[in-house]
Amino acid sequence: MNSISENLSKVHSQIDSAENDAGRKAGSVKLLAVSKLHPVEEIEEAVKCGQKAFGENRVQEAHQKFTELYKKYPDLELHIIGQLQTNKVKKAVEIASVIESVDRIELIQEIEKHASKAGKNIAVYFEVHTAEDSKSGFADFEQLQEAVAFCAEGNAPHVVPSGFMTMAPFSDDQNLVRASFKKLTEMADKIKKLYPQLPLSELSMGMSGDFPVAIQEGSTEVRIGTAIFGERNYNK
Ligand SMILES: *Cc1c(COP(=O)(O)O)cnc(C)c1O
Repeated sequence: MNSISENLSKVHSQIDSAENDAGRKAGSVKLLAVSKLHPVEEIEEAVKCGQKAFGENRVQEAHQKFTELYKKYPDLELHIIGQLQTNKVKKAVEIASVIESVDRIELIQEIEKHASKAGKNIAVYFEVHTAEDSKSGFADFEQLQEAVAFCAEGNAPHVVPSGFMTMAPFSDDQNLVRASFKKLTEMADKIKKLYPQLPLSELSMGMSGDFPVAIQEGSTEVRIGTAIFGERNYNK
């Protein structure tokens, strides 16, 4: 098995060439290292290679690991990328810089409540359901727009609408995968035209198996776990 350091270099060079192939500016795609189910020691290995931004999908696990990591590395950036239950929002707001999995207005209200109490602003991405085998995300453009409008109308001043996120289907059919990314890009473009005052610049799409396609379709942030840390052990 390759080391985390070797894997990171490889992923960086694959991102570089995907940017280049797509005619995009070098460095326009950010790497989020998805460290879910991997221990603090492995995250530290990535940090020592210069990786600063991490993604976790379970708040409880992320809270434990990152409370510890922040003591040593206060400038790490944590993104919550998994489905978020309302009763976990307080802890999520405590540790995260970005919540990428916003999929309902109720969640925005809850994030606002805790961010306001903590006196902190928190970036959010709107997760959009673009493919059948994903469970989460706003189901259609109307629902997405309703949530963005809720923020644009000033209902959640501590919540900073910063972008969009989706998961493509787990499929070998590149056309299906690409269609899913295209759908997010199109919806995001429409929303950005309607709400030019919002800083909605991020498109979080692409994982270990499909990130070159996502980069071709305009991704600004890829969320990569397996290609960096290896397979996850779900039985631990
Ligand atoms: C686990 C996860 C990833 C990373 O998946 P890999 O295939 O391991 O790169 C990306 N995004 C989300 C939302 C995830 O839950």
